[in-house]
Amino acid sequence: MRLILLGPPGAGKGTQAQRLVRKHRIVQLSTGDMLRAAVAAGTPVGLRAKSIMERGELVPDDVVIAIIADRIDEPDTRRGFVLDGFPRTVAQAEALDRLLAARGLTLDAVIELKVDENILLERIRKRVAEMTARGETLRADDTPDVLKGRLAAYRAQTAPLVDYYARRGLLKSVDGMAPIDAVTAAIDRVLRDSRGTAPERKAGRKAGASGRKGVAAGKKGAAKARKSGARKTGASSAAKSAKAGRRGTSVRRRRGRSAARKRLTRTG
Ligand code: ADP
Repeated sequence: MRLILLGPPGAGKGTQAQRLVRKHRIVQLSTGDMLRAAVAAGTPVGLRAKSIMERGELVPDDVVIAIIADRIDEPDTRRGFVLDGFPRTVAQAEALDRLLAARGLTLDAVIELKVDENILLERIRKRVAEMTARGETLRADDTPDVLKGRLAAYRAQTAPLVDYYARRGLLKSVDGMAPIDAVTAAIDRVLRDSRGTAPERKAGRKAGASGRKGVAAGKKGAAKARKSGARKTGASSAAKSAKAGRRGTSVRRRRGRSAARKRLTRTG
């Protein structure tokens, strides 16, 4: 199963992603977590991303696209994945389409967590207060000012993806303001209802041989794009650095996995 979770910061993407991971035995691919790992490891990607993230702005498309391109080729994604925090721009969504087509893969659904922005700000203020009270370290971008910037970035750059995926018949919206378990139940329901009816799949079956040719052409195109993209932007080395960052932290991760998981169980 391959899913995207869409919604503003604090909408509950992280929490729901972890539940989907357990239920469907897929992996969570969170560009936010990957970038924070790169920052913590001080990789070139991390150095490039640090101040951008602290300002609540978006890291350049080529950087995150390269990270995801690399990550979806790792063997643990074979059963599927839930993307959390990616794509965040139309350019990223188009790149994802190309990456998937080149591998003959399709998306099952894009789940939008619909929320009210005012309640969201309140929710995040509460989360920050609770974490401070527990003496936990806050994310550098978890301040009310930066949060407003993150919400503005969502509205301007990410919200258009709702239409993008609605046009492709993939969008499933659920009420993200409901209690956590109710949101999970609503997601289960939309996934059950849409099983086997994903429009891309139907089209793929009907397209038959010409569809397969399309995939092969897509593969060539994507390989070409990857090469020229890497030359132009250094994206491939950026992805490698991010990967190295992940590897560098993997031992620590394994040791403190449950503690880390708790820390990462954020509502956004
Ligand atoms: P949020 O809680 O705001 O949803 P994330 O943990 O997903 O945040 O991401 C934190 C920061 O990392 C973002 O504000 C942005 O700077 C950067 N980031 C994460 N994913 C992307 C992406 N797909 N494109 C660009 N920047 C990203």
